[in-house]
Amino acid sequence: MRRAELVRRISAVPGPIRPRADLEQYATPPELAADLVLAARADGWLEGARVLDLGAGTGRLGIAAALAGAARVDAVEIDARLVEIGREAVRDLPVEFHVGDVSDWNEGSDLVIMNPPFGAQRRHADRPFWTAALRLAGTAVQGFALRASREFVESRVRETGARIERVVPIEWPLEATMPHHRRGRTTTEVDRWDLVADRGRGSR
Ligand code: SAH
Repeated sequence: MRRAELVRRISAVPGPIRPRADLEQYATPPELAADLVLAARADGWLEGARVLDLGAGTGRLGIAAALAGAARVDAVEIDARLVEIGREAVRDLPVEFHVGDVSDWNEGSDLVIMNPPFGAQRRHADRPFWTAALRLAGTAVQGFALRASREFVESRVRETGARIERVVPIEWPLEATMPHHRRGRTTTEVDRWDLVADRGRGSR
């Protein structure tokens, strides 16, 4: 599937309705979701892979992965309201939603993808996500983090023996979707981390 078609299909997956600020419920912009899965495909991480989407929301990343060639996607999200929306959007793609906390998920996958809370509302809300991702990935991890969290992600990478494939700087568009947003459209500095997991640990 070409990028433009992928973006179109991802745009059709609704974002969170009445998003909860405390859980940092923001939908990934379709272009950024498409670029993530296309990079995974180019690196050979996606075709036929088992994929885990942590903090899946309505499933934009997981659905993008299935559209781009994943064999199976498990999407884990704590808010049942969003899971309901995601299940509607999946249609016949191989994406299965699970309501739960990422810290309780124990099944390994090949590739782990995530747009977790950035920890802007609740300090360190991003941490359990990076811990879970690096524990569960057999092949690779792709996830977004605030630029301010660089040192934290680097330290998790070092501790787990993973390797940084690339860090993609992103101007993340923030729309005024929540009551505490005053200004109109602004951006915030984010990185996409593409990490190769330490296969030697036999996490699968
Ligand atoms: N991945 C989606 C949504 C990102 S917003 C997308 O790309 O569009 C982050 C999501 O993480 C929210 O939907 C929030 O409800 C969920 N979340 C926050 N803490 C969580 C936890 N501990 N376990 C599972 N999901 C969580």
